[in-house]
Amino acid sequence: MKLKDIIELDKKYYMNTFGDRTPVCFTHGKGINLWDLDGNMYYDFLAGIAVNALGHSHPKLVKAIQEQAAKFIHCSSLYYIEQQARLAQVLVENSCADKVFFANSGAEANEGAIKLARIYFKKKGLENKFDIITLEKSFHGRTLATIAATGQEKYKKPFSPLTPRFISVPINDLDALYRTVNENTCAIMIEPIQGESGVNLTTVEYMRGVRKLCDEKGILLIFDEVQCGLGRTGKLFAYQHYGVEPDIFTLAKALGGGFPIGALLAKDFVAQAFSKGDHGSTFGGNPLACAAGLAVMDVLLNDGLVENAEKMGNYFMDKLNNLAEKYAVIKEVRGKGLMIAVEFNADIADEVKNKCFERRYLVGSVNNDVLRILPPLIINEKDIDGMIQVLDEVLAEYQN
Ligand SMILES: *Cc1c(COP(=O)(O)O)cnc(C)c1O
Repeated sequence: MKLKDIIELDKKYYMNTFGDRTPVCFTHGKGINLWDLDGNMYYDFLAGIAVNALGHSHPKLVKAIQEQAAKFIHCSSLYYIEQQARLAQVLVENSCADKVFFANSGAEANEGAIKLARIYFKKKGLENKFDIITLEKSFHGRTLATIAATGQEKYKKPFSPLTPRFISVPINDLDALYRTVNENTCAIMIEPIQGESGVNLTTVEYMRGVRKLCDEKGILLIFDEVQCGLGRTGKLFAYQHYGVEPDIFTLAKALGGGFPIGALLAKDFVAQAFSKGDHGSTFGGNPLACAAGLAVMDVLLNDGLVENAEKMGNYFMDKLNNLAEKYAVIKEVRGKGLMIAVEFNADIADEVKNKCFERRYLVGSVNNDVLRILPPLIINEKDIDGMIQVLDEVLAEYQN
């Protein structure tokens, strides 16, 4: 099909939640590259919004999915599933969690986390502990409970009234948390590095303070690592940057390398609150998704991708900081590992993104003043040099 025919079909039949999309349709990818209908090659510095951690069509992932699909795709969790048990083992053995439950997306994993935090106190007989405190500018998903948890009005407003009992406070403000916690609070839920609002980092001091507060008050600490987890920031899990462990945390995006899967992980003492019938999922933890997850974890852990994310992240940030010295229009470069944002002094991010696209480089933008860069974790210095050169060219147009 031709691009214009696909666009016509889309406009006629697809719900308009994405508006006018970037006018391109990709047909296949390999590594950090994608190809469109006309055979043009692109460099993917967004990785499906932090999903394609291994790049496109990684041979180990493709093989795992093909082999599993040929055996069988779905089997109900009413039966024991080898791939599910093994993926849970890998995640537990490499994290601070003791137990895992698989969902199909980040929002669903977060719903599970919210349910688990609430039922934990219900089962202790503490009927009134159900409030969850989240951070402003956070993003936790698109279901009703997770948009209620999300600290951004733009996602919440059109759907009110939302699931009650979520309260958002400013990031890195421990006093605000102390003022907000009360006898109804059951959990504090935090993205250690906020993704969707433009890569906003929590500080080590803050995260240690939050952990201490939770311990003092007997409330649960939930980390949403849907975006920042799984090597993206240069450590397997973002919490490892802080020397702080959550009681519950969630994963999704990169976990299946593009195949949908989410995970809810918890320490034993919390996980025990779920018993037969309290939670479930038809598709969650199916053999195909878990086979994909196993392949992703194998490559992440054994092919040095986490270390590469740290190394390439530092290289990238250095180069971007050089650009920041050269171009006054850059206000700030921030990030950790390969979760990077460039904030501008003006509303030019969409335009810069489009100019990069014209040069066949894919990046993201947030609120028109932040450029978001989330390349596959397999990226090398040469790839980064290419992106830097393109940004250099594009930003030169804003120099006066
Ligand atoms: C993407 C994202 C989600 C939602 O994940 P979906 O798979 O789209 O439901 C939740 N939390 C964070 C931090 C995310 O980045």
